[in-house]
Amino acid sequence: MIESKAYRVLLYYLYVPIENPEEFAAQHLAFCKEIGLKGRILAGLEGINGTVSGTIEQTNQYMEAMKSNPLFSDIVFKIDEADGHAFKKMHVRPRKEIVSLRLEDDINPHEITGEYLSPVEFFEAMKKEDTVIIDARNDYEFDLGHFKGAVRPDIRNFRDLPQWMRENKQMFENKKILTYCTGGIRCEKFSGWLVREGYEDVSQLHGGIATYGKDPVVQGENWDGMMYVFDERISVPINQKEHVIVGRDHFTNEPCERYVNCANPECNKQIICSEENEHKYLRGCTPECSAHARNRYVVEYNLSEVEVNERLSRINL
Ligand SMILES: [Zn+2]
Repeated sequence: MIESKAYRVLLYYLYVPIENPEEFAAQHLAFCKEIGLKGRILAGLEGINGTVSGTIEQTNQYMEAMKSNPLFSDIVFKIDEADGHAFKKMHVRPRKEIVSLRLEDDINPHEITGEYLSPVEFFEAMKKEDTVIIDARNDYEFDLGHFKGAVRPDIRNFRDLPQWMRENKQMFENKKILTYCTGGIRCEKFSGWLVREGYEDVSQLHGGIATYGKDPVVQGENWDGMMYVFDERISVPINQKEHVIVGRDHFTNEPCERYVNCANPECNKQIICSEENEHKYLRGCTPECSAHARNRYVVEYNLSEVEVNERLSRINL
């Protein structure tokens, strides 16, 4: 029996013109707080993009309110069950764009975008010849989990993807291109950009990995590892049939799926790292970060100078 949990996390977006994002954001924030939701929502001239958490009752109330608003009635909510809130606070931030490729002439997915594939169609398309699967997310998301055989763009931020594509275009010439991302929002723009760049056969995973993992037919098949998420859960499972670990410990390269932030407050880089190595390296991603004067790990564990120096000497600076 599947035990149902008391909380939910909603992931959603919609490209739809919002006339005054500042005004909308202020009103929407008040509404979300009134219900008791927590999360992060971006509101832009081009649409809305959010992840929120709350009890079943709170999230139902939110979804009903959004669906009864003609502006947002087309939103598809991806629903995860959870043990509690996935955020500490509630933010609604006005933005020019809800996702940015840093283009002078931005893509409107209602005008130009790749073909939409359902999870089953995407699963079948991945098996075809002359096909290349591009992960449209960031490198640290890819490193925790991805579709088998997918290309990993060497980017830290989505806005750097067009330049990376232009530098590596020989990989994609005369290929059928499949793109995917967490919930589908990034691919709507990215696949549109690919079409505008002249790629002729471009398709995107409709609803993203989040939808793919819940599809009753594919059940996340062909996905390795975990899916990175931008909330306190950090990662969620996708493949219901088998679990292959692809994450690798930053220090030892051993299989690992645990993300921590580097304890150097000036670095803060996310690294995959076992609990053992977190203690060993004082949660620093480099010797310099381990030895940083304001190392957060040292503060958290209230380590004495003697203890710090002893551990640093053991990692051979
Ligand atoms: Zn660092």
